[in-house]
Amino acid sequence: MALSKDDVLAALGKISSPDGVPLPATGKLSEIIVADGKVFFSITVDSAAVQQWESVRERAQQAIRALPGVQSVMAALTAERAGGAAPRPQAPPVGRARPGGPPSGGPAAPGPAGIPGVQAIIAVASGKGGVGKSTTAVNLALGLRDLGLKVGILDADIYGPSMPKLLAIRERPQTIGGNRLRPIERFGMPVMSIGFLIEEETPMIWRGPMVMSALTQMLREVEWGTLDVMVVDMPPGTGDAQLTMAQQVPLKGAVIVSTPQDLALIDARRGIAMFRRVNVPVLGIVENMSMFICPQCGARSDIFGHGGARREAERLGVPFLGEVPLDIVIREKSDSGTPVVATVPDGVHAKFYREIAMRVRDGLAATSRAAPKIVVEA
Ligand code: ADP
Repeated sequence: MALSKDDVLAALGKISSPDGVPLPATGKLSEIIVADGKVFFSITVDSAAVQQWESVRERAQQAIRALPGVQSVMAALTAERAGGAAPRPQAPPVGRARPGGPPSGGPAAPGPAGIPGVQAIIAVASGKGGVGKSTTAVNLALGLRDLGLKVGILDADIYGPSMPKLLAIRERPQTIGGNRLRPIERFGMPVMSIGFLIEEETPMIWRGPMVMSALTQMLREVEWGTLDVMVVDMPPGTGDAQLTMAQQVPLKGAVIVSTPQDLALIDARRGIAMFRRVNVPVLGIVENMSMFICPQCGARSDIFGHGGARREAERLGVPFLGEVPLDIVIREKSDSGTPVVATVPDGVHAKFYREIAMRVRDGLAATSRAAPKIVVEA
């Protein structure tokens, strides 16, 4: 018999809170999601009580893992500020932004802790869906890999994960030592996506704390090894969920993908403003589907009004990272899990992404140099 939510609840009923109440009766348990042997839930507690609750989370996780039919468990502890208010993104006030960089003036708020072994994490974001963000993320990661960097990919789009398709990944991550996951290796890069843990057709209803706990686990409970760069494919948009993610992930920089149309650019502008709000330097804008090159005659047409993103980047004072044409080869390669940079490495298409990768690498190096040095006075 397939594992049900009731089986999970019954097992959690045997786990007690620090003051002896069965976990399901504490009111701190999120919705429980059971999908194909994978179990997800979070426990939201007052931030002052996190330490006492960690052992509860641990016991809950172990109890569920021991149930027949369970393949993996994601049980996360989410902290809520005292007073019971729902956790809200704590964005610093929007200051006078330095072009391409964090707002100037005032001490920078301490960011989230880094991931041991991971040098730099960059977000690939877009103001809306369908602009080619995930395709860009994958090919950018491959371009960085070909520059000699050790690169990993984290698919943070938990509402619509793309990596299973774009990298043709159907296998499931294995657990190591009980509670860490080994990422899937593709084209020499470790990759993690919530899409590896759930069936494509499984409808997922995510609630705020669960989004964050899934992301936190994919970041911190996965054996990423030593990486120079982790490329994070963000969910499309610039709403609260994205803002919270941008705050929770220790980002060194962000790449914004846009099509040249004005409408998409308005969204891209919002994306830039969002990263500036959370003190993440914008490494630049990529103009995707920039122009169309006819596969038969080679003639070029600017169907979306080529050049919009470059002008916008200049206006906003952020670097322009490059343009990628709208091309059937890119689409076919992308959708069949054989991205162009990996499978046609010397082709014209790969060249566009390689140039973008070089600029991103240089931008990252400049960002690190620009970081303030901490001087300890004797
Ligand atoms: P997003 O992550 O912004 O939703 P995707 O990367 O999933 O976008 O791309 C959406 C669709 O557009 C996919 O079918 C993809 O193959 C296609 N696509 C992306 N970039 C290009 C391009 N430069 N030329 C042609 N098709 C593209």
